[in-house]
Amino acid sequence: MDMRGMDPVFKGSYDVIVVGGGIAGVAASVSAARAGASVLLLEKQINLGGLATGGLISWYEPLCDGEGKQMIHGIAEELIKLSAKYCFDNLPETWGGRSGNKPNNQRYSTYFSPTVFSAALDGFVIENGVQIRFDSLATYPVMNGNVCEGVIVESVNGREFFAAKVVIDATGDASVMHRAGVPTVVGENFMTYIAHYYDTSMAEELVKNKNTCVFRKWINTGSDMYGNGHPQGMRLLTGVSCEDITDYVIAGKKNLLQKFSQRDKNTFDVMTLPTMPQFRTIRRIVGKTDFRGIDGETFADSIGNCGDFRAGGEGKHYQIPFGSLYNESFPNLLAAGRIISAPQGDGWEVARVIPTCALTGEVAGRAAAQIAVKNQKISEINIEQIRVN
Ligand SMILES: Cc1cc2nc3c(=O)[nH]c(=O)nc-3n(C[C@H](O)[C@H](O)[C@H](O)COP(=O)(O)OP(=O)(O)OC[C@H]3O[C@@H](n4cnc5c(N)ncnc54)[C@H](O)[C@@H]3O)c2cc1C
Repeated sequence: MDMRGMDPVFKGSYDVIVVGGGIAGVAASVSAARAGASVLLLEKQINLGGLATGGLISWYEPLCDGEGKQMIHGIAEELIKLSAKYCFDNLPETWGGRSGNKPNNQRYSTYFSPTVFSAALDGFVIENGVQIRFDSLATYPVMNGNVCEGVIVESVNGREFFAAKVVIDATGDASVMHRAGVPTVVGENFMTYIAHYYDTSMAEELVKNKNTCVFRKWINTGSDMYGNGHPQGMRLLTGVSCEDITDYVIAGKKNLLQKFSQRDKNTFDVMTLPTMPQFRTIRRIVGKTDFRGIDGETFADSIGNCGDFRAGGEGKHYQIPFGSLYNESFPNLLAAGRIISAPQGDGWEVARVIPTCALTGEVAGRAAAQIAVKNQKISEINIEQIRVN
């Protein structure tokens, strides 16, 4: 077999490589750079924000506990402000928002424009000293035993190798850590296919209120987060097989056209289709410690707090253990975002939303810098230096 062009070209060394430019990867790369590390952020698409932007989520779940107490600070808070900076929001006045925005909202959460927020993320990352590479799919970690020496990247350049002292997996599907040999667990997902559209029915309100927040509408051609409306006869989707992703995308678009087919075609337009599959729980690592989402559970290695975004979750307080971001057998690999060690159920539910992903990303970045720049062992990291209060 002729394998020409298959040998990777060496492209350079970094203290920290972050794979995936979703919310977790953005937070991880910025925090590692702020802590003095040289950082490369690899993103396979051409926009940052991942599910939050390309997946059209556009609702920043709360940073507060629903009873007036702020639970998450740090980059998660910087990012909610950034999400509201250039376009519509409905951040309440009590949490620093502008008055009069609709629809009404009491918690420290907001709607945001996924397109405009995504555009703003580039500057946030670059101004903090991170080097970004778009169109760069990290395919395989290069391992020396359980130590990761860097990653192979495919792009229009061909196949390249980037070396790193620490690699943070912020892929949303733990593909880097999975391929490195870290034990992982695959989730199952109901079909959810959300696109954004506008129609003439909102035009009057848009003009009257001068607020585009009311104009961007969601259409879901799958089911809600509890599976109500999941297409009859359709299997649950994992998101770790190309077949699942292909079936999901084809079904989602077909259902979308069906849903609109009854309408007068001159009264609406679809603004944006999702550019990545909207699977909530794809694959997560099995770490040193599980974050199980138990109200009030405390950890000696707690790296920050969060609340519960779900209805009925008001007043719930969770600590997240640093041990949920790594597996002890892999000394220079860290997980960030919706792939941390959090079993299906309350743990994964709470861990996977935007603010918690930003929190675990920020901590992973700080920890990576401690390992790469200060030569600390993962097990010896001073939690005080990485915790986000
Ligand atoms: C249907 C649905 C509704 C939701 N609703 C809400 C909500 O209302 N509010 C809320 O706060 N959260 C919500 N969430 C959850 C939240 O949006 C996501 O879990 C969160 O944004 C995930 O962030 P992440 O950075 O961990 O991963 P992702 O957003 O998945 O980012 C991963 C990034 O890595 C890139 N990538 C992946 N593999 C590679 C690779 N090998 N090489 C290079 N790049 C790679 C991807 O392109 C992507 O940009 C929802 C999720 C779903 C599915």
